[in-house]
Amino acid sequence: MQLEDIKTIGIIGAGTMGQGIAQVCAQAGYKTMVFDVEAQALEKARQRILQNLDKGMERGKLTNADKEAALKNLTYTGDMLQLRCDVVIEAVVERLEVKQSIFQELANINTPATILASNTSSIPITQIAAAVPNPERVVGMHFFNPAHIMKLVEVISGAATSPEVAHIIKELAGKLGKTAVMTKDSPGFIVNRVARPYYTEALKLLEEGVADVETIDKLMQASGFRMGPFELMDLIGVDTNYSVTTSMFEAFQYEARFRPSHIQQQLVNAGHCGRKSGQGFYTYA
Ligand code: NAD
Repeated sequence: MQLEDIKTIGIIGAGTMGQGIAQVCAQAGYKTMVFDVEAQALEKARQRILQNLDKGMERGKLTNADKEAALKNLTYTGDMLQLRCDVVIEAVVERLEVKQSIFQELANINTPATILASNTSSIPITQIAAAVPNPERVVGMHFFNPAHIMKLVEVISGAATSPEVAHIIKELAGKLGKTAVMTKDSPGFIVNRVARPYYTEALKLLEEGVADVETIDKLMQASGFRMGPFELMDLIGVDTNYSVTTSMFEAFQYEARFRPSHIQQQLVNAGHCGRKSGQGFYTYA
C-alpha cells in the first residue's frame, strides 16, 4: 500500500482522543468513520468536532467551505462491522484485553492489507499485535491531547511491524499536519515514560500534605510548564492517566517509581474523571 491508496480511515472510540483524531482525518480529506459502543459518546464527539471547527473559523484558520468539507467526510456508527477501511486507528480505554479483542475483530472484518494502528499511550504494540494474524500491519500511532491541535505523533513499531507499515503511517501523520517521530516499542514509549514523574511526584506531594492541588499547579506553571500536573490530568482524563500509570507499573515489574496513587484511584472510583465528567481535581461547569 502507498499513501495515495489510503482513502478511508476508521476510528474506534469516540472519547477524548478519538474525537480529535477523527477531526484531523476528516479535515485532511479522508472519509472517516467513527465507531463507539456508547451512542452518547458518538453524539458528544459529533458536537465537539462541530465546536472545534466553529472555533477554527472564528480564529480565521478555517473557511466555511473547509468546515463543510470536513463534516461531509465524517460518519458515526455503533456497528463495528461497517469499519472496512484502509487504516483503522483505535483509541479506546487503556486496557490490553479490550484492545486485543477489538484488533481481533478488526482483523476478521478487514483484509490483511488494512493497517491497524493503536493510539495507546503505554501498552507495547507487540502485545496488542500478538492477538491478530498478520501482526506486521499493526503499528502504534500515538497522538497527543488535544489531538486536533498538538503536532507530535509517536509512530511505534512492534516486534512484528513491517518497516513499510511504519513508514506509511509516518507519511499519513504528515498528511494530517503532524510531525511524526519513530520510536521503539517500550512501555510508555518516550513521552509518557519521561512525563510520568510529572504526575506521580505531584500526587505524592499531595498525599504527603506538602502542598495542595492549586499550589502545585501554580508553581509548576510559574516555573515554565504550560499546565500544572493536576489540570493536565483533568484534561487527559484522570481515569486514562491512572490506567497509563498502572500499565507502566505492571510492565516495569512493579518498580516503586511507577506506583499508582490512591488519591487518583479514589477519584476514578468516584467517577471523577476530569473535564470529560465535569469533576476531577477541579470542578468544571
Ligand atoms: P476516553 O475514556 O475519553 O474514551 C474512550 C472511548 O472508548 C469511550 O468513548 C468509550 O465508550 C469507548 N470504548 C470503550 N470500549 C470500547 C469498545 N470495545 N469499542 C469501541 N469503543 C469503546 O479515553 P481517551 O482518553 O480518549 O483514551 C483512548 C486511548 O488513547 C487510550 O489508549 C489512551 O491511553 C490513549 N491516549 C490518551 C490521551 C489523553 O490525553 N487522554 C493521549 C494520548 C493517548
